[in-house]
Amino acid sequence: MRVSAVIFVLFFVMSGLDQSKGHQSDIEPRLPMVEPPLETTTQISEVSVQSAGPAIVTLSLPTYIYSGETFHLKGEMIFEGPNIFIGSIEFLDTISPLHVDENGIFEATLGIPVGHKSGEYEIQILVYGLGQKLFRTELVEVRTKPRTEDYIHRTEHMKAITSDSSSLNRELEIRHEYNREYLPVRIGPGQFILPVFGPISTQFGERRVYENGSYGNHHSGVDFAAKEGTSVISSSQGVVTYIGNLPIRGDSVVIDHGGGVLSGYHHLSQTLVSLGQEIMQGQEIGEVGNTGFSTGPHLHWEILLFGVPIDPIQWTTDLFVRQ
Ligand SMILES: [Zn+2]
Repeated sequence: MRVSAVIFVLFFVMSGLDQSKGHQSDIEPRLPMVEPPLETTTQISEVSVQSAGPAIVTLSLPTYIYSGETFHLKGEMIFEGPNIFIGSIEFLDTISPLHVDENGIFEATLGIPVGHKSGEYEIQILVYGLGQKLFRTELVEVRTKPRTEDYIHRTEHMKAITSDSSSLNRELEIRHEYNREYLPVRIGPGQFILPVFGPISTQFGERRVYENGSYGNHHSGVDFAAKEGTSVISSSQGVVTYIGNLPIRGDSVVIDHGGGVLSGYHHLSQTLVSLGQEIMQGQEIGEVGNTGFSTGPHLHWEILLFGVPIDPIQWTTDLFVRQ
């Protein structure tokens, strides 16, 4: 069964604009490592088990979160008698589901758009049960992560693509369509794998600077330089939810991993799967190409969380391994 989510999707159409550094083997200089935020747990001691309505007794959040990154919210609520709760979280104009189990343990995975301003923002937690309702607001600090610039000298063909508003709108509409629906529950392993063998040529979040000095958007994924025809594999288990051509991202495969998580594989020369096909982690789904807005063969790889592109490399670490 598929569900529709009421989400306010933040799109970065121009962020799909790509460039590749061909077959060069050196990797973009990396930024200094930034210390991962500490996770804190709030104990709310004054709430007793005898309270009439449901109440949150523990809530775990990072102390701060970087723009473009993903984080977990976890906690426990208490309630009287048997009940079934349905929860949601509103954060940065996006409403996403909060999973609550029969023991009152709840969790959600949330992402911050890469260009989001730093500051303190509200997270609103809402849980409905049978005749019961729980509402809680927390403040979290968003910090801007420093991003490098990515210089792109556009060919006339590439300039034509970026100045064609009908193509840009078509790309936005298609992406909006495949972000509207997703499998309700996450499937497959929590930890993703890299989709291709090759050096990273453009990191997530790099700011585009064009030959005329104008700025484009932040890069919405990670680029891997690889020869045309190199195998592209699925980062995790899922179902093919889109296959086709996008004006900017070229020939593309998008896989639904459930729970609002999609992965996209773009600029392909060949697609080797069909719409609705179930895919295992590591299964070949296409071949590296140079289709769409691209200066050479490479793979543009994205992960979207409720329509928001977030840093895919973070998902290949053990941060998202289920307990
Ligand atoms: Zn790219």
